Amino acid sequence: MHYTASILHNSISTAGPADVLAVPRRLSILHELRALVPRRDNVTFSEAVIIAELQAAKLLELHEIDDGPVPGEIVTELPKLRIEQTTHAASGASWWDTGRGEWVIHLNRRDSWNRRRFTLVHEFKHIIDHGRRHVLYIGTSFKSPKDQAEQAADYFAGCVLVPRRLLKRAWGQGIQKVADLARLFHVSPAAIEVRLRQTGLVDTPSRYEESEVIRQALGRKVNCCDRGRRSLATEKDEASTSGKEN
Ligand SMILES: [Zn+2]
Repeated sequence: MHYTASILHNSISTAGPADVLAVPRRLSILHELRALVPRRDNVTFSEAVIIAELQAAKLLELHEIDDGPVPGEIVTELPKLRIEQTTHAASGASWWDTGRGEWVIHLNRRDSWNRRRFTLVHEFKHIIDHGRRHVLYIGTSFKSPKDQAEQAADYFAGCVLVPRRLLKRAWGQGIQKVADLARLFHVSPAAIEVRLRQTGLVDTPSRYEESEVIRQALGRKVNCCDRGRRSLATEKDEASTSGKEN
């Protein structure tokens, strides 16, 4: 694994005077991921799913990840992001803390470590999407915009924690049992099964799974974002702060 801790803090907001001289000014990682969303408004959900995969690949590239398991620090050590472990009913939640000027991700300490890793990256996708959800997820007669956002966040988390290229490499090296792959990538067996189908390594290949199937496989009991007015779903509440966080 090639993992460079310093790059985690490589943003304009955290660079000190010495860093400014040594490192070219660049956008924060969050900005770089958001920049992959086209500026037009007519983004289809199929495109939104592809964007999610591109953002996952970019996040891994920026951290020079070339082996599993993918470290959760690629998210937890980002600047202006606070992780809190709670015992709330939901698996996770995320919002912008106006008072402290930073993003917050709640994880349920009762969940297994592997599940918390998945929830962490899922919630980070909601943060990436902040301000553009209305463009990325317009819903259909069968699926609400919120359900589409949840589905995209699940897909993003799978792409980050079980990268297509690394999964195929492991498969090619003969690691093909679900339990072995789950151990390799530090995710649940269910998450591996979903990724094997998504990457076409087993039957029913598709770029993404129906959200209901994913949720059943991952055992989600509640919607991670059901936090009422503090939820990212109420982006109007946070619109005034969204431009300040990075
Ligand atoms: Zn969610």
